[in-house]
Amino acid sequence: MTDKTGQCMCGAVTFSARDVPDHFSACHCEMCRRWSGSALLAVHVPVEGVTWKGEAHIRTLQTSDWAERAFCQRCGTPMYYHLTVDGYGPENYSIPLGVFDETTGMTMTLESFVDCKAGGLAYAENGREQVTRADTLATYGMPGD
Ligand SMILES: [Zn+2]
Ligand SMILES: [Zn+2]
Repeated sequence: MTDKTGQCMCGAVTFSARDVPDHFSACHCEMCRRWSGSALLAVHVPVEGVTWKGEAHIRTLQTSDWAERAFCQRCGTPMYYHLTVDGYGPENYSIPLGVFDETTGMTMTLESFVDCKAGGLAYAENGREQVTRADTLATYGMPGD
């Protein structure tokens, strides 16, 4: 775990985050695919450790009954996925890997909705956990992401 900083493409939104894990996950669900353009690679950071600047430029959209997605209203960069319901563990921001300034040494430890991934997309094997849509739904009891 380290402290990290990041920003959107245009720089209107920046953040600093404490206790950022050195691992991230990939989600291939239809919504994350469309939101990110391929697969959402996200680092799960405790909400209380993140300080946002330029918050006036952050727009959130409730994208399902249980989650919202946030983006910079100036440049469109996805900034975080956030559960809006309780009962699924600690409250995190799932912040896209690509918006962090420094990601050296980080590894992918989970790939979900692997049966929904975009054609031709294959990450290097490293022994990470891989789960299907059905696995994910069974774990969380949600109809999708
Ligand atoms: Zn921006
Ligand atoms: Zn997803």
